[in-house]
Amino acid sequence: MFKKQDTRPFLIAGPCSAETEEQVMATAHGLADSGIDLFRAGVWKPRTKPGGFEGKGVEALPWLRRVKQETGLKTTIEVATANQVYEALKHGVDVLWVGARTTVNPFSVQEIADALKGVDVPVLIKNPVNPDLELWLGAIERISNAGVTQIGAIHRGFSSFTKTKFRNAPYWEIPIELRRRMPDLPIICDNSHICGNRHDLHEVAQQAFDLNYDGLMTEVHPTPDEAWSDAKQQIVPLVYKEMIKNLIVRSETSDNPEFIEHIEQLRHKIDEIDLELFNLLGRRMRIAEDIGRYKHRNNIAILQTARWNEILEKGLEQGRARGLNDEFTELWLTAIHKESIQRQQTVMAPKTTA
Ligand code: PEP
Ligand code: MN
Repeated sequence: MFKKQDTRPFLIAGPCSAETEEQVMATAHGLADSGIDLFRAGVWKPRTKPGGFEGKGVEALPWLRRVKQETGLKTTIEVATANQVYEALKHGVDVLWVGARTTVNPFSVQEIADALKGVDVPVLIKNPVNPDLELWLGAIERISNAGVTQIGAIHRGFSSFTKTKFRNAPYWEIPIELRRRMPDLPIICDNSHICGNRHDLHEVAQQAFDLNYDGLMTEVHPTPDEAWSDAKQQIVPLVYKEMIKNLIVRSETSDNPEFIEHIEQLRHKIDEIDLELFNLLGRRMRIAEDIGRYKHRNNIAILQTARWNEILEKGLEQGRARGLNDEFTELWLTAIHKESIQRQQTVMAPKTTA
């Protein structure tokens, strides 16, 4: 259900919270002609601190039914307990999502999974607030084990202690690894909660589509500055439609023979270079072992900090001259150095006789 169809992404939009019936209906009518697949609204809001607006609860559920009746848009809300699942289904909500603060807690996810047994409603699972792929996978597995067949993941970024430009740091490598582990699982980017502001929404959405994401979830409000939650990141329907119009959604691949031939030539070159790199790395490690044996015979220590500094400094310079950034050079040189030391340690280790 949540998969991108060729270059048509799966779109979810709507307010952070359902505040009043008028606000929900105004947003829905503003979005009715935008081509979205699902209308979102938070009904129970998990707030970091007490005293904030915690959502209208059950009272807001008939408003969503009205959205469906008047606009034809299907609806989705966040659920965090068995009772919320029960109420959402009773009021005809079409898709449920598990929030980031719930995905972190296996007891809560299991409670939701148990409540979903025998009801094959589509479910989206946000990443946990902490950058833990296993926890995300575990939540997906629990919901899947309950018999839910239509599952998608929502990438909404990760909390961090230090402030970055984002409200929730994207750590793109985590959803990339999720895709590698579960290639058929649709992944949707929640650009609103990653950004925490209105200005970077387009940029982050484009980055997601450049990584072949399936869809987008964005918070839209008729009067964002007056929103009762997440005011800074919400946009009006008109701005949302502009953003969607300006996004370039790429296909995963092409059947154009010219494209296939050219990309294959380039990939062949890459494969050849990778093979050369492997040959060189193998040779380098064998020399490291020779050095280890030589040092062993002469009773010399493995680590010589001055030599390592020299390798690193020379390497950074050589990398820069070839357009490689320092962070990357340091990363791979450190990995090679670590492996060289390990090889030398093995060579030097006293032989144990059985
Ligand atoms: C939300 O979507 O409004 C929300 C609370 O998101 P998250 O679970 O990502 O914080
Ligand atoms: Mn929100």
